[in-house]
Amino acid sequence: MKSASPIVGRFAPTPSGRMHLGNIYAALVAWLSVRSRGGRMVLRIEDLDPRTQSGPWTALMLDDLSWLGLDWDEGPYYQRDRIELYRTATENLCRQGLTYPCFCTRAELHAASAPHASDGTPIYAGTCRHLSEAEVAARAAKRPAALRLAVPPAEDPAGTIAFTDRVFGPQREVLARDCGDFLVRRSDGVYAYQLAVVVDDAAMGITEVARGHDLLSSSARQIYLQRLLGYPEPSYAHVPLLVAPDGRRLSKRDRDLDMEGLRERFGTAENLLGWLAGTSGLAPDSAPRTASELAECFSWDLVRAHRNDIVVHEEAAGAPIA
Ligand code: GLU
Repeated sequence: MKSASPIVGRFAPTPSGRMHLGNIYAALVAWLSVRSRGGRMVLRIEDLDPRTQSGPWTALMLDDLSWLGLDWDEGPYYQRDRIELYRTATENLCRQGLTYPCFCTRAELHAASAPHASDGTPIYAGTCRHLSEAEVAARAAKRPAALRLAVPPAEDPAGTIAFTDRVFGPQREVLARDCGDFLVRRSDGVYAYQLAVVVDDAAMGITEVARGHDLLSSSARQIYLQRLLGYPEPSYAHVPLLVAPDGRRLSKRDRDLDMEGLRERFGTAENLLGWLAGTSGLAPDSAPRTASELAECFSWDLVRAHRNDIVVHEEAAGAPIA
């Protein structure tokens, strides 16, 4: 169903664990941005990886979002049901002559001395980019190939992606230098996150993407794919990560900060959201507030004002956070 509203945002969680304070903050900001301007929200479950037992986590995620009052108008869509769309988009890239099979093992990739892209992915050294047809056939007989997208050389302007992030301002990435040829499909046949997210954002009419700062470095690859596939470009906002007072990024290891612990300790969504809003600067204090109340005073300026990571140092419901 297509939205009549010009603003469409999304939640796009990967169901690999219980929602955590950092995920809640990113989801809250995405929801506030859309709801404060009368937009629509789509829920998409990013369950592409068949190695993950996603069912139980998905059920908990839907329940946690509902408990928080972060509702959605469309979905949940499941990426596992949408493989045909990813296949069609990949065929399009192949027809444009932009992809090539890659037979490198994980060990070979990490042994290559290329520097690492900002998200920790090794920059591909291009080993399989120029294999002859005979070499491809010989290797394909031994092991399944992944599929890579060849990015333009550094001096080609088409491979320089510039965009303005709503929180972190102007960004510029030279694909050849900063990420290299990247995967669109893994060797086990699973489509890559970068491809799936771009296909889905376009198919679902998403006009604004708001997500954690850790995904800022993926945006250039996604924008590049949008251009190749002729899709519209949504706006991007990357929200600050939550850190402990010692600077450590909060993670799923902090059990007391996942929704199970938080629901127990705060008791109500108003208590939890009010405290989170006070801590992150979305509200002037930590008084209990519903998500809808927070939407009334939401502005991106509040997020920008705290973009140098949000330190979670207060005691949550009596228990120390770190
Ligand atoms: N599924 C990703 C995650 O949970 C988010 C993808 C996105 O927002 O683009 O980290």
